[in-house]
Amino acid sequence: MTLTQDLREALGDENVLEEPVELHLFSKDASLMRGEPSVVVFPANANETAAVVRIAERHRVPIVARGAGTGLAAGASPTQGGIVVVTTRIKDIEIDVENRTAWVGAGVINLDLSVAAKPHGLYFAPDPSSQSACTIGGNVANNSGGPHCLSEGSTTSHVLGMEAVLTGGEVVVLGGAAPDPIGLDLKGALVGSEGTLGIVTRALVRLLPIEPDVRTLLMDFATVEDAARTVSDVIAAGVVPAALELMDQEMVRAVDNWLGAGLPIDAAAVLLAEVVGETEGVVAQSELISDIGRQNHATGVQVAADDDERALLWLGRKSAFGAIAQLAPDYYLHDAVVPRTRLVEVMTGIYGIAEKYGLTMCNVFHAGDGNLHPLIAFDSSDPEMNRLVHEAGDEIVALCLKAGGALSGEHGIGIEKRDLMRASFSELDLDAQARLKEVFDPAGVFNPTKVLPEGSRCFDFGGVRRELPDGVWV
Ligand SMILES: Cc1cc2nc3c(=O)[nH]c(=O)nc-3n(C[C@H](O)[C@H](O)[C@H](O)COP(=O)(O)OP(=O)(O)OC[C@H]3O[C@@H](n4cnc5c(N)ncnc54)[C@H](O)[C@@H]3O)c2cc1C
Repeated sequence: MTLTQDLREALGDENVLEEPVELHLFSKDASLMRGEPSVVVFPANANETAAVVRIAERHRVPIVARGAGTGLAAGASPTQGGIVVVTTRIKDIEIDVENRTAWVGAGVINLDLSVAAKPHGLYFAPDPSSQSACTIGGNVANNSGGPHCLSEGSTTSHVLGMEAVLTGGEVVVLGGAAPDPIGLDLKGALVGSEGTLGIVTRALVRLLPIEPDVRTLLMDFATVEDAARTVSDVIAAGVVPAALELMDQEMVRAVDNWLGAGLPIDAAAVLLAEVVGETEGVVAQSELISDIGRQNHATGVQVAADDDERALLWLGRKSAFGAIAQLAPDYYLHDAVVPRTRLVEVMTGIYGIAEKYGLTMCNVFHAGDGNLHPLIAFDSSDPEMNRLVHEAGDEIVALCLKAGGALSGEHGIGIEKRDLMRASFSELDLDAQARLKEVFDPAGVFNPTKVLPEGSRCFDFGGVRRELPDGVWV
């Protein structure tokens, strides 16, 4: 039987797409890189996913897991063709109120989990700005962060266990509700593995109690440096707010033009800070943050008066990338992390790079954890512009790495940053990661060519390095 005949028999005709126009819809994620899938399938559970994996291994075709396709590193782009496995039918949520945990289907939308947990006074802390679309499976695979991960940690801190489909279609449960389970932390290997080791079908996640009180502050500054310095000073003062986000003027103007929220469009930068907890602590912390802002020459400090005002501020922040459509048809978004104490100099350097290349750049980022998102607005149909944007991007990454930063804060490596991995990892590091990949995926079907650069497997088991044609080392 052909590949699609096998898949139709396993999943039913209605869960297999192969018309060119349908395939095209699944040809890319939210990055700019595209591939063409051979076929797109929608399994309903782990057993159906296992059947797909066995079929893929039998036909020796790649499998690309896909949640909502909001990834920004081309992780879900089927650049080698093959089967795109969309998890959106796996969307059961089982909440265990007593233990404050939930088993969640990989295809559940992030925000839907917190909405389901709210009546129990609980929520799921990782809140990527894409949370109204992205899935739990995508969050786990990318170890996603979000504005409120500053105090609570990114997705990995909230995943206790998972059900996953591995090579041969084996369905396993890794980790579990017990704290510190014995044995190797295989769950830890899958979190952040970007679909290269297997497919997560369900995750056991931690839910947190909704805090009794909250204050959201908006501070505006005449320079980006003052805003960035406020960020380091707040953390140095011993306060870890729930969120600490920075938007520069270009970004504030784009957001306000669309939202009409009355944001301070004349400010060079605004800081959005949120503190949560018991009222007494929340009031004290918001006063301290305001004072630190003023010491750094904040020109305005406002506290959201009520839930509606707070929701409007967060809508502005979380819709920032979308607002860029007013400036240009495309954007190229970087995601690097630098030590918080280097924020001021790195920001200055990034603006210098944009100026040198004559590019329109906006910045909106999780400043509290030093996670930068320089965003270049441009028209990707212009080849010269494409070249400049990518050159500028490489300079930005190099600047961040030189400042002691990391390649990605939360968006993952995918293909986007794959060839830059050598700038962060030694040959031995990459070899160790490639060996792990081989153990999990001996058939080489799970999201091939993603994350690890070609030639990562540089030593054989005896420690001797061999070179294949075309400079590929194994
Ligand atoms: C407007 C916007 C704002 C964003 N804001 C943030 C943010 O604040 N923080 C942040 O961290 N990210 C952010 N992102 C990036 C993106 O939303 C996250 O990486 C998100 O977790 C991806 O989820 P998804 O369901 O869309 O995954 P996809 O894009 O479909 O897939 C992402 C990767 O995960 C793999 N994958 C997906 N599902 C599975 C599975 N079940 N098993 C194994 N592998 C799987 C895919 O193969 C791919 O490599 C943003 C993106 C956009 C467009």
